[in-house]
Amino acid sequence: MNERIYLSSPHMGGRELEYVQEAFATNWVAPAGPHLTAFEQGLSDYLHGYAVAALSSGTAAIHLALIILGVKQNDEVLCASFTFSGSCNPIAYLGAKPVFVDSEPETWNMDPALLEEAIQDRIHKIGKKPKAIIVVHLYGMPAKMDEIMAIARQHEIPVIEDAAEALGALYKGQKCGTFGDFGILSFNGNKIITTSGGGALVSKNSEWIEKARFLATQARDSAPHYQHSEIGYNYRLSNICAGIGRGQLEVLEQRVHRRREIFAFYRQHLEKAGINFQPEQEGSYANRWLTCVLLEEKSRNEKVRLALEKVNIETRPLWKSMHLQPVFAKAPAYENGFSADLFSKGLCLPSGSNLTTKDLEFVIREFRDALD
Ligand SMILES: *Cc1c(COP(=O)(O)O)cnc(C)c1O
Repeated sequence: MNERIYLSSPHMGGRELEYVQEAFATNWVAPAGPHLTAFEQGLSDYLHGYAVAALSSGTAAIHLALIILGVKQNDEVLCASFTFSGSCNPIAYLGAKPVFVDSEPETWNMDPALLEEAIQDRIHKIGKKPKAIIVVHLYGMPAKMDEIMAIARQHEIPVIEDAAEALGALYKGQKCGTFGDFGILSFNGNKIITTSGGGALVSKNSEWIEKARFLATQARDSAPHYQHSEIGYNYRLSNICAGIGRGQLEVLEQRVHRRREIFAFYRQHLEKAGINFQPEQEGSYANRWLTCVLLEEKSRNEKVRLALEKVNIETRPLWKSMHLQPVFAKAPAYENGFSADLFSKGLCLPSGSNLTTKDLEFVIREFRDALD
């Protein structure tokens, strides 16, 4: 049997181990230290000088963003429905209520028209404005940020930009993660760069990021003893993981380039076979974290997935929208059926930047066989 071809596996750049060894040599085996500071600085330099707090996960970053924006029990928070559960679980951690918004066909992300409708309807139905909007750049494809930010600003609702899958993507020349009041990143093992597990909170507002660091280290007041006036969390990234992050950040541009190359390769070979791809709008530069395809016929995706699994190729259905998940069955949703349609037709293909051209040729051959 051939070696397994994964969807998106970690891809080290070369200097990660050196940084980790340095952490051991200097005994900074802790959730503090020089790598953590340098990793935050590196991310900040990359993200137009925005302030950055490195955290234990992307989910933790969303949790802290919601807390800092003052989201409380029974508040409503609007969230893109077509996403991974990490985007919206933190709403529930706070006893607040997610309200889901479906996707538009041009980027597959939050539909601005439905967002506007949802805001007006929530104000009409419950007499108060949603407390925040969580917009997602799914699969590294920038959402329609001009439209979404205009609606958010008009209604004065803060935006959390979930760029967990979109580090390295650009919208009209600006980096994803720097549009919202907060941006969040993930460095989970399957993301475009990884720290094994980790995340970051990004904002132009450095006081908010200071506050996030404070909350992420158990909300310790300034006193020689342990003094607390607020509930805190243990959400800081370790200095070891930050060392891996420093190595990864050095190769980020190469990783984006390779993922886009993989996307182009698939498209070149599969478009003729009647396969459709996630579109990229003029002015957007996706990182193509995962190449997503759509089959014409519903439910064919599962047959293809199983056929590829037999030859040890990992593919995955697209995200199943949150408003279709049993756990969020009672949450209000503003839907148009588009993301449900994507789920019934779509498949994510192996897209890791460490795949060789030979690997890709094998996937394409087997994928075509599975289609016939
Ligand atoms: C991965 C991911 C998250 C959560 O990140 P973790 O670091 O795994 O907690 C959130 N949103 C989206 C869209 C993601 O893909």
